[in-house]
Amino acid sequence: MSELKLFNSLTRTVEPFHPVHEGEARVYTCGPTVYNYPHIGNMRAYVFADVLGRTLSWKGYKLTHVINITDVGHLTDDADAGEDKMEKMAAERAQSIWDIAKHYTEAYWADVKALNIRQPAHWSVATDYIDEMLEFAKSIADKHCYELDSGLYFDVSTVEDYGRLARAVTEEGEGRIDTVEGKRNAADFAIWRKTPPGEKRQMEWDSPWGKGAPGWHLECSVMGEKLLGFPFDIHTGGIDHREIHHPNEIAQNQAFCGCGGLSEATNSGARFWMHNNFLVERSGKMSKSAGEFLRLQLLIDKGYHPLAYRMMCLQAHYRSELEFSWEGLGAALTRLKRMVMQVERWKDRHAERGGEAIEADAWKGHPKTREPLDRFDAAISSDLNTADALVMLDDVLSLKKIDPAIVLSAVARMDAVLGLGLLDLSRTDLRIRPKNAEITEAEIEDALERRKVARAEKDFATSDALRDELTAKGVEVMDGDPLGWEWKL
Ligand code: AMP
Ligand code: ZN
Repeated sequence: MSELKLFNSLTRTVEPFHPVHEGEARVYTCGPTVYNYPHIGNMRAYVFADVLGRTLSWKGYKLTHVINITDVGHLTDDADAGEDKMEKMAAERAQSIWDIAKHYTEAYWADVKALNIRQPAHWSVATDYIDEMLEFAKSIADKHCYELDSGLYFDVSTVEDYGRLARAVTEEGEGRIDTVEGKRNAADFAIWRKTPPGEKRQMEWDSPWGKGAPGWHLECSVMGEKLLGFPFDIHTGGIDHREIHHPNEIAQNQAFCGCGGLSEATNSGARFWMHNNFLVERSGKMSKSAGEFLRLQLLIDKGYHPLAYRMMCLQAHYRSELEFSWEGLGAALTRLKRMVMQVERWKDRHAERGGEAIEADAWKGHPKTREPLDRFDAAISSDLNTADALVMLDDVLSLKKIDPAIVLSAVARMDAVLGLGLLDLSRTDLRIRPKNAEITEAEIEDALERRKVARAEKDFATSDALRDELTAKGVEVMDGDPLGWEWKL
């Protein structure tokens, strides 16, 4: 097997992965703030974390993956100003925060499932860890924090190399955040926010600094430490987290460990910090604050299978920006369809030969599958190059003169990393099915059957009339389509 190498944002280099604990891999992924639906850009972050987790499992590591659910503490503004996103939404909707959190957590999980993202070992919910957060905060308060009227603040000058992950200039006034009056350094941040006098928040807890709520950065430090122990192997998030959230987590972790600077990655709390780049959309509709934003359900309503979006993500390297377009999604869907059709043909051939149970390791027995799997391993080991890995999959699918059982075992082996569900999907699952279609699939099939009969009887008037009827309802009849489709909505 190739040696796994991953890009570490801390060092800005691709480094070999050596686990902290022999044979294990411990990964923490910053999860969603459940005040609204996730958009597909957010989901790119979890597809990336999933491919990373699958790769680690594939390489034989015992994986412990944590994804947190942020249900308190994330403010509308990164500079410790603004409101708590959860409180704000609950007030707007006149609902309890708990109901908001439940609804959007479930919506997020539905997307996770639809995208074939594996369940992590722990979904850690921030409000389940308030006691631990208070303990953590107390342990660093004396040496690293100071109190203002609005809360307990972390003094970033008390740790070495603050902001190194972001490559930020930290001198005051140089592009860093300020806003809260009385901060010692522009980049200082709240680890506990006090409820203002006379106010009552839906979510607040007692603390040595008064009633209030934890800061968002504190949550991730605490859940990472509690569930994975410092240092753990890999911390992931979107590229925006490289700038503020993760540098602040790192500062807290350094304080908690009482360790030195960041020339040693382990002092940061994790050995690797990995970040996916953004999914971008020209008209900016993806933003959660705009009216109709791009969430996975919108893609599904327009008739796209959610795994076409997963394919779209895999076609790009996670560290490059990816521009969303409906054409791009359509192309990804077509690619997935072609692969699924090839798999179906291999399955048919296998069935013709008796269809016996396929041994998982059958691919090892043949150089025609061993060789592309070696290249697949090299691609995925090279900082998760899924785009290249898909090409190796294409190579396997188009093999000739080989036992189908061997090919299918190779496909299963590759799909364990890619997670496209190639062996479970059928061609018809991938049919475009817009939610607002005026006609059902059964009606389409029925009309086409009648058209076939009419054509066989050379009754072209009826055949043309049926075709026009279908066209009027948005169905394109696709005689002689190279992919073998009879119709498209
Ligand atoms: P949030 O719920 O805002 O905390 O975001 C959840 C995750 O999505 C974080 O890891 C973000 O960094 C990531 N993220 C936000 N916007 C995008 C985007 N457009 N493309 C990729 N990842 C994103
Ligand atoms: Zn986080």
